[in-house]
Amino acid sequence: MVSKYFSDNTMEERQEIFQEYFDRDLERYFSSRISCCEKCFDEFCGEWPGTASRDDDFLTSGIEISYFLEQSRIQEAFHPDEIALFSKELRCPNCDAVLDGVFYIFEHKFLVYDFNLGSISDLARTSPFLLLSHPFAAKVFEVIKRKVDTAETLPGKAIWYRGRMARDVPDPATLAHFAPPPAAKVYEGRYNHAGHPMLYLAGSVDTVKGEMRASEGIAVAEIELDLPCRVLDLMIADYIDGDDDEVIQCLARSALCMAPRKSDGWDRPEYVFTRFVGDCARHAGFGAIRYGSVQDSQGVNVVVLKPPADFSACARLISVQVI
Ligand SMILES: [Zn+2]
Repeated sequence: MVSKYFSDNTMEERQEIFQEYFDRDLERYFSSRISCCEKCFDEFCGEWPGTASRDDDFLTSGIEISYFLEQSRIQEAFHPDEIALFSKELRCPNCDAVLDGVFYIFEHKFLVYDFNLGSISDLARTSPFLLLSHPFAAKVFEVIKRKVDTAETLPGKAIWYRGRMARDVPDPATLAHFAPPPAAKVYEGRYNHAGHPMLYLAGSVDTVKGEMRASEGIAVAEIELDLPCRVLDLMIADYIDGDDDEVIQCLARSALCMAPRKSDGWDRPEYVFTRFVGDCARHAGFGAIRYGSVQDSQGVNVVVLKPPADFSACARLISVQVI
């Protein structure tokens, strides 16, 4: 095959040079690497649901291989038939599939040494009480303890929303109907153990609907909460200041804390690590955790880790709407 500049090279070498041009343009124009392709997109989103649903840099990172090659300096160095041939060997660094459709140019701005999703979730599934023996879990515990001194306080008199199925709430409803349930009726939840009531609140009516996975038949209470306490912030952030923030971002973005609920039964392995985080937070002196909604990509939730026995002492019912 005729080549513009590389006729003296073997075909193997020409393939390597083509790959170098491709990598150089990725680096030059995007300062980034390929996170996934069409074939492993679902796998990436499964491991990093927080990033996949909330990070604009990732959401806008998809590019068609043909478009990338058209814009690339590869056009200046190779003939079209060379490009057609060598591009068939460009592969996804994540799954090794040929890049023949859309691929995603994105890189997390952090790298936590001990973070290995597979080994942590294996331990969480097989022996959850031993989670602290995993180096990353131990790191999480230390980071959460350090974070408490500089943590923000839950704003006083803040407005939050809480939903229940309308069929379970009388009309008119009172604040007591939206209080944390009695211990005997508390199932294992995202941050709470069975029998440990916590108060889950959402930042908007839409988030309540998303969290309840229903669009109607819901009674949504607007509640003013006046409960100053330290909040552990597990929202995704672009600005990362040091190692501790990197660990927090692993929690905020990965399936460890952002996995969707898979069942209504007792087997909820996706909640093991979040309950571990809840324990760390309570132990460290946090009163609440703020986290992104798994069901509503714009939504914010807060969970009050140890709500007062007398709910009316810290909350006021403003209104109830049935939707
Ligand atoms: Zn891939």
